Amino acid sequence: MIVTRFAPSPTGLLHLGHAFAALTAHRAGGRFLLRIEDIDTARCREDFVTAIYEDLGWLGLTWERPVLRQSTRFAAYEEALALLGDLTYPCFCTRADIASAASAPHGPEGPLYPGTCRDPHRAPAPGEAYALRLDAAKRVGPLSFGEESKGRVAIDPLLFGDIVLARKDTPASYHLAVVVDDAHQGVTLVTRGEDLFLATHVQRLLQALLGLPAPRYAHHQLILGEGDRKFSKRDKAVTLRSLREAGASPGQIREWVGLP
Ligand code: GLU
Repeated sequence: MIVTRFAPSPTGLLHLGHAFAALTAHRAGGRFLLRIEDIDTARCREDFVTAIYEDLGWLGLTWERPVLRQSTRFAAYEEALALLGDLTYPCFCTRADIASAASAPHGPEGPLYPGTCRDPHRAPAPGEAYALRLDAAKRVGPLSFGEESKGRVAIDPLLFGDIVLARKDTPASYHLAVVVDDAHQGVTLVTRGEDLFLATHVQRLLQALLGLPAPRYAHHQLILGEGDRKFSKRDKAVTLRSLREAGASPGQIREWVGLP
């Protein structure tokens, strides 16, 4: 049985791009789950969580209850970090330290971590700020993931370098939380925007290191706004709420995103 999920972060109102993503996941058939990705407590808001339920319900979607909220899962992320054990190390570098490292190669999101704190590493002093990084080179042989439109995709485990998995005050990074929760919820098919295609490389690596099953992936095109810009939560005019208030029907939204 296929299990899909829609996993928004409640940092703004849902827009047409989210409608497309949620409808795509729902259409895959099987069980459809909703996961609220609210780890970043400074940016997430309860009224946006309520708006997610309201907008998806209005669109005609139904999802399984109870909804999993990442803010309730901190113990599971801690357990995963403990399991990684020696594959992680504390890092004390600032952003400026990393940017100024002469030989830092670049990854998809900017300079890769140059490995300053990797070897030898030390424990943080009491109260000292740190980030917990993955030693990405200590891996488990060749890995790949199944992508609906491309077949098997071999991963590059070093694509993002030694990623941050947690910080002193943040229990898990996006990558760690997604991998732990997709496995916990038994997700078999991850449908999401192609802007996250490269993230799957590092997420597949984490699955292997944590001994978690790998779902299949279907990265879809993004619905773009004027001038082929990605929609953002700042695009007030295309939020589902404002479209609804302006008289649009759920059927019209489905048509606009090409999933009537
Ligand atoms: N929470 C992420 C977002 O809102 C999506 C995560 C995922 O689909 O893996 O962009």
